[in-house]
Amino acid sequence: MKRKNVAPLIPELVPGPLWGRSAHKMLGSKAVWKKQIRGDTLTNSNNCCSVCKSSEGRMTCHERWGYDDRQSVATLLGFEIHCSNCDLVVHAGRAFKLGYGDIVISHLCAMNQCDIKHAVAILNEAMNVWTERSKKDWRIKVASFLVERYPELVALPKFVPPPVAY
Ligand SMILES: [Zn+2]
Repeated sequence: MKRKNVAPLIPELVPGPLWGRSAHKMLGSKAVWKKQIRGDTLTNSNNCCSVCKSSEGRMTCHERWGYDDRQSVATLLGFEIHCSNCDLVVHAGRAFKLGYGDIVISHLCAMNQCDIKHAVAILNEAMNVWTERSKKDWRIKVASFLVERYPELVALPKFVPPPVAY
């Protein structure tokens, strides 16, 4: 695999107060998610992982969020396709809880061409950012071009998921 075209993979953990407040949670059973958002995103990525270009296994339609730490605003910026390994890295906190820590470490090393020590440092930094972000109240925004394309997303800032037992 050519490394130059591959973006390094860094976990970005969703702050606790924002868990479940996602387009997928709001739209998951609806055609706009399954056919349009997920379908468009798969087409754009040629049915491959947007990060590592793998075409193996289950592909997840990942929501790319930007976090403005000063204003405490989380903005939905777009969608991309993740293979199961990249998805585990991005959701590293949950992956470790479920016993997939080894896969997270080895995929992080492979994607960033680094050793285990460096991979652990990346994970610790992600956890520190997560801890700080989880202390705040966040407002949600959706990038305007996304609302134009998928008008259902206009409801996302007010969407609060039903409580779930973790
Ligand atoms: Zn991948």
